[in-house]
Amino acid sequence: MIDSDAALQQSRIEMFLDKWLPLVGLGDWDMYHVFNRDNVVHGADGSLTQAAVTPQWPYMEARFEWNLTMIAQNDDDSLEEVVIHELCHCLVDETAGGGDNEEHAVTMLARAFCRTDRQGVIGA
Ligand SMILES: [Zn+2]
Repeated sequence: MIDSDAALQQSRIEMFLDKWLPLVGLGDWDMYHVFNRDNVVHGADGSLTQAAVTPQWPYMEARFEWNLTMIAQNDDDSLEEVVIHELCHCLVDETAGGGDNEEHAVTMLARAFCRTDRQGVIGA
């Protein structure tokens, strides 16, 4: 991925982070981001994935890794849901044990946020 493509994908991610961090209550967290252009980001199960997050909820910090190669395949609506999904992992981390149950919970939360936003409820 060339520099300009990577910069574009990073800016798309940052646009949704700027929108959603305060809305979901994570504005006070310290967030560290790795924007990876080599298509090597792996999830907890070892599979190739477009994004991964390691929250440290007691310290209100999280490390994100974004797979820019896969992110580029998303339209804006899909990317927004991906960003919210990763943020939701931070919200549930202290009660979740990882695995399929956590993935299902954050997927449902992300879709609920997206539906609510797209119906004009958020920011109204
Ligand atoms: Zn997930």
